[in-house]
This record gives sequence, structure tokens and C-alpha cells, in this order.
Amino acid sequence: MGADADGSVRATGAVVDRIGAEVEIEELVIDPPAAGEVLVRIAASGVCHSDLWARDNGNWGAPFPMLLGHEGAGTVEAVGPGVDSPRVGDPVVLSWAVPCGVCGPCRRGVPRRCSHVWTQPARVRRARDAASLAGTLSLGTLATHTVVHAAQAIPMPAELPFREACLLGCGVSTGVGAAIQTARVWPGARVAVIGLGGIGLAALQGARIAGAEQLIAVDLAPRKLEWARRFGATDTVDASGVDAVAAVRELTGGDGVDVAFEATGVPEVVSQALAMLDYAGTAVAIGVPPIPSAVTLDWNGSDRSAYPRKTSLVITDGGDPIPSEDFPEMARWALEGKLDLGGMITRELALTDLEEAFRAMLSGEVIRSVVLFD
Ligand SMILES: [Zn+2]
Ligand SMILES: [Zn+2]
Repeated sequence: MGADADGSVRATGAVVDRIGAEVEIEELVIDPPAAGEVLVRIAASGVCHSDLWARDNGNWGAPFPMLLGHEGAGTVEAVGPGVDSPRVGDPVVLSWAVPCGVCGPCRRGVPRRCSHVWTQPARVRRARDAASLAGTLSLGTLATHTVVHAAQAIPMPAELPFREACLLGCGVSTGVGAAIQTARVWPGARVAVIGLGGIGLAALQGARIAGAEQLIAVDLAPRKLEWARRFGATDTVDASGVDAVAAVRELTGGDGVDVAFEATGVPEVVSQALAMLDYAGTAVAIGVPPIPSAVTLDWNGSDRSAYPRKTSLVITDGGDPIPSEDFPEMARWALEGKLDLGGMITRELALTDLEEAFRAMLSGEVIRSVVLFD
């Protein structure tokens, strides 16, 4: 690494050449940030399911080759013209979900429902053929360096370790945001979370922080139910042996829950979340679904179906954040011990071990693997 004569920086990153291709660790050349952009030296990057989803299904409209990673934290190393914040030397968490201020939802005053999809500045090239790389979800954090729009680099308290801070960039802000912003969980609410991977556990923590009274964790894996207990679940349902909807109803005296989060992306689980709600309950769909998929809604007019029960279904793909407000607040909760980030890191590894991180993620062995850079 180090700067070349033209001001470019040599870096290393995880690259996917085309949809479905194997991940390759490649040497990169990163051009200096232009107006409104920042160069960030990445210290830690979480490995998220959406990295694999993007490899196999496409990068939300961005071209390949793709620079993997979208859950990173590090230090601002250079800023382009006109950038007042962040400043060189600031610790930052990167966000793919910053409200743009100009789309329809932003203009009508609901920036948390912003429809903008960011594209990464074209500053990152693959060294061997100079191909321009587009980061996963506009960030490309599984690399020693990346360049993003300044608004996407959120200053963080220096006391929060990078290994924990990076989780705020996607998994934790998605789950916690789904509970606090999307569902507006209230003190005393009865909540179920289906799927206790990193995002489900973050939703569980968010609901706990919001004051939910009953927190029912539903999963097929005993290990994940054990994790859920550690993060505040009051009840667990092993859905490998019982009907999850019936079990949740039984645990709530027959009523069902006020809010049910589905954090699997499996369409049938969205239907289950809807079916386990009490009157006027809300199901929150978080998981990225397969293509194609469809959800069936029970609409038969009977007591338990959606229409007479005034059921809501809301969808979030990132916890509806305003990162400049939410990330520092979550960081404070972490520093106060309210939000357990450290407990969500099961493994720390090097960029060269990325395939192992993907394997462990798919097998459900880890809550989160975090890649650390020197
Ligand atoms: Zn917007
Ligand atoms: Zn993610």
C-alpha cells in the first residue's frame, strides 16, 4: 500500500468478477476522492448475507465486477474538495442507506422510507486489468480501502472499537431499526422474532431496548434459540418440532403477538408472521427474499384472517435508518451496555479467510464474522 505518484492508493479487496463467480482477493488501485467523496481506510468489515445475495443475484442494478462488503468501519484518510464532514482522521461507519433528500419519500417528509439507491464513486480499479469496480450496496468494505460519498461516512465515537462499530453499518442497524423505527415497538409489547441470525438477534435487542415485555424467539436451530436467550428472549420456540404459529399463540394466552418480525427472507415465514399476530398487529418483513417468490395472505374473512383483525404488513430492507442520527445513538447504547455488539461477533478473521466466513454463515455456525484489517 501507499500512495503512487498520481495520488492513487494501492489496496487489496474481495472481488466478484460476474454474477455467481467465486470471490477473488485482488490487488486494487484507488484513485483520490473527487468532490463530495471520501477515502476510508477500512479497519473492520462484517460479513453479511447480502454479500452472497449480491454475488448470486446481482448488485441492485450496479455493474460487475463488484467489490464485496457493505458493513464496514474505519478511518477517513482523505477527503475530496468541498467536504466539511467527516474530516481526515475521523472514525466512521459506512452506510448504504442514507436518505438522499430529493426522492419522493424524502421530499414529502418521510426520509426513513427513502427510495434512493446509492452508486459508489468510480474510483476503485482492479490492478491487473484496470476494470472499474462497484461496491456491494455502493460501499465495497471488504477491502483495505474504499471511496464513498461523504454523506455515507458517519462519524462515530472513537471509544467504540471498529470491530463492533462496523456491525452498525448493516445487520445491527437493520434489526434494531426494524424494531424501533419500522415497527415502533412500545413498552409492554408482545413480540416474536422468527429467524435468529444476526439481523433477528438485532431486532430482538431493539425490541428489548424499546421496552417489549414478552420476546418470543422462533427458529429451527437450538443453537440460535440459545443465542436468543442471551440477547433477552423471554420464550423460545423450536419450530423444527412444533407449529410456530400455534406455539406463539399458546405462549400469549391464545392472543398472538403485537409485532412479529420475519428475518429469514423465506416467503412462507412472512405468512407465519402474519398469522401469529393479535388484533391490529404488525408483521415486519426484513429478510431479502429469493427471486422469484410470493407471499400468501390469509384473506377469508374468518376471525383469524388479516381483514377482520386489521393486520399490517410492513417491509424494511435496512431498518429505515437516518444513519447520522441513529448510528451515534446505537453507538451510545453499545458504550452504555444496552446494546450488545461484542456478543454478536462470533469470529474474527482475515480477508483471505472470506470463503470460510461464507461457509460458516450459511451453516448457521456464527452470528457474525468480522474481517479485521491491520
Ligand atoms: Zn430519498
Ligand atoms: Zn447487510
